[in-house]
Amino acid sequence: MAQENFLDFSDQKWRERLSDAEYHVLRQAGTEPPGIGEYTNTTTEGVYRCRACGAELFRSTEKFDSHCGWPAFFSPLAGDSVIEREDRSLGMVRTEVLCANCHSHLGHVFAGEGYDTPTDLRYCINSISLTLEEGPVEN
Ligand SMILES: [Zn+2]
Repeated sequence: MAQENFLDFSDQKWRERLSDAEYHVLRQAGTEPPGIGEYTNTTTEGVYRCRACGAELFRSTEKFDSHCGWPAFFSPLAGDSVIEREDRSLGMVRTEVLCANCHSHLGHVFAGEGYDTPTDLRYCINSISLTLEEGPVEN
């Protein structure tokens, strides 16, 4: 099977591939309500993949309990697995986090909040943007 180029996908193709709720978050930069996401409090060991394209994005070893209502990671799996860009929507300046492979919306990253983590970054990611692949994570 040929490698799909997700950056060439039309909106129509994304709509066929994703559920309405997934499309809203991943392709329209929506946000799932806090506290309801399936991975908010998950501590299962594994790798979190992009639900849109399957790229590996985050690992359970960088997930932490932020009490913010969404899954939180203090670092992506690799620096080049996500793209960060300025987001001035909703009258705020935030940093949006996108999948580097398919440019789907994942969430936002916040810095300097005082969390007791190695980076003091909080990658606040929608559960619906992720799929957990359970298994041992190498360090
Ligand atoms: Zn992706």
